[in-house]
Amino acid sequence: MRPTYQVTELLGDGIGQELSRAIRRLADALPIRLDFVQVDFRLENRRARGMTIYDEAVEKITATRVALKYPTTTALESPNAILRRRLDLSVIHRPVYTIPGVPTNFRRELDLDIVRIATGGTYDDPGRMIGEDGAVSLRIVERRPVREAARYAFNLARKTGKKVTSASKYTIQRATDGLFEQVALEVARQFPEVPHSVELFDALLGKVIMAPEKFQIVLVLNEYGDFLSDMACGLAGSLGIGASANLAFDRAAVVRVAIFDAAHGTAPDIAGKNLANPTAIFLALSLLLYQLGEIAIGQAVKNGTLDLLRQGVRTRDLGGQESTESFTEAVAAQVSQRLLPQPVVRPQPSVP
Ligand code: NAD
Repeated sequence: MRPTYQVTELLGDGIGQELSRAIRRLADALPIRLDFVQVDFRLENRRARGMTIYDEAVEKITATRVALKYPTTTALESPNAILRRRLDLSVIHRPVYTIPGVPTNFRRELDLDIVRIATGGTYDDPGRMIGEDGAVSLRIVERRPVREAARYAFNLARKTGKKVTSASKYTIQRATDGLFEQVALEVARQFPEVPHSVELFDALLGKVIMAPEKFQIVLVLNEYGDFLSDMACGLAGSLGIGASANLAFDRAAVVRVAIFDAAHGTAPDIAGKNLANPTAIFLALSLLLYQLGEIAIGQAVKNGTLDLLRQGVRTRDLGGQESTESFTEAVAAQVSQRLLPQPVVRPQPSVP
């Protein structure tokens, strides 16, 4: 019997259906069973169901604990924002790395895990005018999400043997960023084997460009994470093929639920044409597999996909000839090959 995991699948718009088919095909090639529990998140159903569709999604995601979300049209509401609020998704993990075959202006290798606190900072308060000539907004930093993000970052470092850098403007924003660095340091003390360094955020931006190999896991507040993610994606040339994990935690700061998604949108211009590049959603699936503890399978999905890109097996948006289906077949074959049980090599008796 193959180990079985339940995964909520949030169906999306545009290329969402093709991506869902690609994921099913790839899942069939894995040595575990992914039992998909669907929520119809397509625009027409969201319109018909109103907020009840979110009740269903929250219930199913809470039960399965992991979900894969396809891109959705932002019409009246932003499904991502509602899910973030309803599920208390407080941390975003965004790996950004150089992807072979993706054209980029940056010549160095980049491999960053950005762990971003998804709430607070300057983003929760739109601010207000003071008279006609001034405006003010609140900057909010809370201990709990910082502790959750820090524990996640340090646990990731412990599992992967990487180091953690926390970055902020603690010398100027003494209260808010000072609290952030204080909590990061408290958590760092619980992980004495993980190297931890502190950088000023502006200096970090320059250093990532000049010496990207010095940085591995970067822990940052909300807006800094937003800026850093886009800069890093620009450097890696992978704006359209990134994936992320959106995480909610329990009281012990252990992941309670996680939604994995691709960074790109619904690509309405190519929907239904068998042209969609499923790389980002495959990378999202590999993050989901890590979260399930299936590290080797997650790595096979990630490395199998990236190896094909390196060999020039690519969809048209990356200058290749493959369709969604043919690229998916190639990835499924690669991943199966990588996960085949390795033959046991017995030492041969020596012939006199
Ligand atoms: P988009 O990412 O959908 O498209 C931008 C360009 O990139 C298009 O030319 C598109 O064809 C191409 N592209 C995107 N993904 C691709 C893929 N997997 N393979 C090949 N080409 C791909 O951005 P947009 O046009 O600004 O947005 C379209 C819709 O998507 C909007 O309604 C927007 O609100 C929504 N959106 C949703 C999410 C999400 O659900 N996470 C994220 C971004 C945008």
